[in-house]
Amino acid sequence: MELNQKMYAYGASKSSIREIAAYGSARKAEIGAENVYDFSLGNPSIPSPDAVRQSIERTIQLPPVKVHSYTPANGLPFVREKLASSLCRRFGENAANAGDLYLTCGAAASISISLHAITNPGDEVIVIAPYFPEYRVWIETCGCTCVEVLADADTFQIDTKALAAAITPRTKAVIVNSPNNPVGTVYSAENLAATAEVLRSCDHDIALIADEPYREITYGAVVPWIPSIYERTIVCYSYSKSLSLPGERIGWVLVPPTNPDHDPLIPAVAGAGRALGFVCAPALFQYVLADCVDEPTNVDAYAKNREALTKGLSELGYTYIEPQGAFYLWVKALEPDANAFFERAKSLELLPVPSDSFGCPGWVRVGYCVSYETIVNSMPAWKKLKELYA
Ligand code: PLP
Repeated sequence: MELNQKMYAYGASKSSIREIAAYGSARKAEIGAENVYDFSLGNPSIPSPDAVRQSIERTIQLPPVKVHSYTPANGLPFVREKLASSLCRRFGENAANAGDLYLTCGAAASISISLHAITNPGDEVIVIAPYFPEYRVWIETCGCTCVEVLADADTFQIDTKALAAAITPRTKAVIVNSPNNPVGTVYSAENLAATAEVLRSCDHDIALIADEPYREITYGAVVPWIPSIYERTIVCYSYSKSLSLPGERIGWVLVPPTNPDHDPLIPAVAGAGRALGFVCAPALFQYVLADCVDEPTNVDAYAKNREALTKGLSELGYTYIEPQGAFYLWVKALEPDANAFFERAKSLELLPVPSDSFGCPGWVRVGYCVSYETIVNSMPAWKKLKELYA
């Protein structure tokens, strides 16, 4: 049978992050977990708050037919009410109404739904490189072209000149991810305002998809609320990182009431969710959200890891970008070819992710959502790696 070759290729090639993680697991089984320093995956290492467990225990006492039923496609109304009120408290009274939210199976679903809602085949979608590699898969699945625009080489903020140069009559949307995976940058209000100006100055309308699963994971930085900076913004969120629930698949799409395309976008988002076969977000976790919507995110362990990793690597003479959010450190490879650098790191049981996977040469991503011991115990290997380049 002739299969869909594009889908076959996506499945057969796998993401390089997952390939490195699979290698890490196999290697741990071979030589012992304590001897492998796997910095590849973005799986939160901080456990979910106790409030989540308590809510699950309470919720499963409800009649099973109630808890495990289909919900409305956009989510349970009382849950969306609570989420919208929370957003209004945090970002202004006009931030969201219950009807503007569409609950999803995580940010991945939020982004693919938003892309399907906005684009037509043949359109172009701009991503700011380095970028989360799955964007390309989701963009191409819409029949669109993924256009990479390199971030500013020094600050890793959005390079607005390069952005302006990349826009064509086919540009339909820009994906902006802040706090950023893989660099850890938080785009400043000024940088976002300049980005908004570039988008507004075009002859046609361009949407901004704000991918924000790391919004709560910051180290003192303020993450600007993009809908109040650029009107044609759609916000994609999930609780994968903020509540450490990546396996439960729960998040939302928000079409802010201030978006000029709001009225047609609401059914288009619902239509995209339907077309992609999502049906509804997991019902049990919709209930949990209602209980945990204002639960603070605990970043203490990430902050401690970040401190130990940056201190250790800077003492060894590595160059990196000071992360303001998320749980990744962007470290300059010690040779121009990040893959060659990765191979040398791998030979010392260090497993970062080479930056080519993120559309940018010459760096590696070190995920510090690991145990503190992993960071501390990895330092002799980082030292040996540096010595290989002496
Ligand atoms: N966007 C970015 C930047 C991510 O890093 C991730 C996951 O790591 C996602 C989206 C997908 O998140 P989710 O697990 O909520 O689908």
